[in-house]
Amino acid sequence: MPDPETIHDNLETIEAKIQAAVDKAGRKRDEVEFMVVSKTWPVEVVQMVVDCGHTLFGENKVQEGMAKIPELPSSLEWHLIGHLQKNKIRKALPLFQRLHSIDSLELAEQVNRIAGEEGLYPDVYLEVNLAEEASKYGFTQKAIRRDLESLLELDRLNIRGLMIIPPATALPEESRPYFVQLRELRDALETEFDLKLGELSMGMSSDYAIAIEEGSTIVRVGSAVFGPRGSK
Ligand SMILES: *Cc1c(COP(=O)(O)O)cnc(C)c1O
Repeated sequence: MPDPETIHDNLETIEAKIQAAVDKAGRKRDEVEFMVVSKTWPVEVVQMVVDCGHTLFGENKVQEGMAKIPELPSSLEWHLIGHLQKNKIRKALPLFQRLHSIDSLELAEQVNRIAGEEGLYPDVYLEVNLAEEASKYGFTQKAIRRDLESLLELDRLNIRGLMIIPPATALPEESRPYFVQLRELRDALETEFDLKLGELSMGMSSDYAIAIEEGSTIVRVGSAVFGPRGSK
């Protein structure tokens, strides 16, 4: 179980590395959001992060969010970062301010329909599976070009940008080409479709500094804050 001092120190270390990465890239600190991924950690441990003044959190499962989010201060902001099953959409919408894992047109259409019924306008990211890994969800580059017009017609969805989970690699540097490709895809789609996608949800514990150098606007960091999952 992590202790409050360790969590405090980890947050400070990450904040310093984020600052160093934005400096290196000639960017501004307020262009990058820092999400703490609290999946698997109990409410008492998440509260330690809250006690340090942190307010932005991510969970990958709706069920876990339903159990934890109501137990924590209502001033926090929660994002869903894991695959959203269609039968969980109605429960997810009021809990999560943003959905990072819109991974198919069909899912987007269902979220749009249910958001309409619930009177909501969710902020979403389109998850891209650049490496076309069979084990991962997300639009291929081909699919996103095919589906983007239809996605833009879903008037309840505020599409903020693109999201990626790059293939697991031995070295953090090996993620860089995927971050570059996601940025280039965003830029290309903005030109081709004459729109503003803007944001890039990319970077995890091992590679968030690299992601920021390549244009990330929101990093999703778990184990660098809490230590390895399953180490309770
Ligand atoms: C678990 C998870 C993270 C955080 O991973 P760490 O390596 O622990 O930082 C980020 N994004 C997604 C989609 C995740 O599922």
